[in-house]
Amino acid sequence: MTVTRFAPSPTGRLHVGNLRTALFNYLISRNAGGTFILRLDDTDPERSTRAFADGIQRDLEWLGLTWDRLERQSERLDRYAAAADELRAKDRFYEAFETPTELDLKRKKQLNMGQPPVYDRAALKLSEEEKDRLRAERGQGVWRFKLKQERIEWTDGILGDLSIDAASVSDPVLIRQDGQVLYTIASVVDDTDMGVTHVVRGSDHVTNTATQIQIMEALGFAPPSFAHHSLLTGPQGEALSKRLGTLALADLREAGVEPMALLSHMARLGSSQPIELCSDLDELAEGFDLDHFGAAPTKFDVNDLYPITARYLHTLPLEQVADQVAEIGVPEDLAETFWTVARANITTRNDIAGWWHLFRDGTTPVVDEEDREFVAEAFALLPDPPYTAETWGAWTGAVKEATGRKGKGLFMPLRKAVTGLERGPEMSDVMPLLQKKPAL
Ligand code: GLU
Repeated sequence: MTVTRFAPSPTGRLHVGNLRTALFNYLISRNAGGTFILRLDDTDPERSTRAFADGIQRDLEWLGLTWDRLERQSERLDRYAAAADELRAKDRFYEAFETPTELDLKRKKQLNMGQPPVYDRAALKLSEEEKDRLRAERGQGVWRFKLKQERIEWTDGILGDLSIDAASVSDPVLIRQDGQVLYTIASVVDDTDMGVTHVVRGSDHVTNTATQIQIMEALGFAPPSFAHHSLLTGPQGEALSKRLGTLALADLREAGVEPMALLSHMARLGSSQPIELCSDLDELAEGFDLDHFGAAPTKFDVNDLYPITARYLHTLPLEQVADQVAEIGVPEDLAETFWTVARANITTRNDIAGWWHLFRDGTTPVVDEEDREFVAEAFALLPDPPYTAETWGAWTGAVKEATGRKGKGLFMPLRKAVTGLERGPEMSDVMPLLQKKPAL
């Protein structure tokens, strides 16, 4: 049974980088008929908020990435405490009392001497009396996991064979001074308790994986398989981390990006397969395979989401936008015609209303000086609405007769006068939608 999870911390909004992680895990479980867990990593009571947790769920629901189970780390603290006790009993957990300033100083010294800034394990040498004294002076210490100094190896689902020397990694702090359990151990306990078989996450977690493998081994757990996808960069390869805040899923939704466009793009970006617009998540899942992804950073350009959104909308049947079309006031008998015209001329759903306003209220005609008289004469030959699909042909025929103009000199000034635009839908489609006779 395949079990995957997406484990965001509800300390902020989801962005495109998080979406990649969520989507990959979702598609893997979906392909295998397995279980997809949404796990809220909310052990930090100060930074985790209900609003962020709700926002995460809203974003995933918008995209259709539904979860089979919802878990909250804040409800599982006793499990983490039990695991911590076990590590203590196995002599793999020790209390350390250095202040952040002291640690910083140690790191600087090491770097000055050309050594890697790895925690020196000074706390391991403390006697019980010394610890009591430090506790009395400074309060509780932090709890660090004692890594076994050996190479940690695994075959990564994307990066291939990996090996990290535990001696190059600091013993990770798993419990903070204030008693707060940190993600590193919570995640190990959850992944095991929840039967997670595949962990896919960003390559910023590679070192975490190494230490988590050792924690799992210490607790007698069998590690799941791990895969680390590359991180996103901007279009020029620039780091995106600082700008990710501006690439929140909620903002993309506001901007009118379509879920299937976004999902189709993100499911293939950074893989050897071309980006194809899929019509639903089943189709997207079918071709999905981590084997197609590589280690190189993945360039992401938010502007790429708009052409694919437009392509999605261009084929969308009325049923799927009927509510929105009705809401902006398009009468039911015009809805089909309206949508056929509108969908071919929009980039996002946010553009739909503008077209209806144009048809309903008309626009300020765009008329070149030399066409003033011509347009006035043409408008005089146009009857009052309602118009039909034949109106444009009949009208321009009459205008041609009366003025002798033909071709572009005939059609373009009339298009501009009626729609205010040089390009746009077929005028024979536009006319039946006009609710008012255009006037100068
Ligand atoms: N809460 C962690 C994060 O958002 C989860 C990482 C993981 O998938 O294990 O980075």
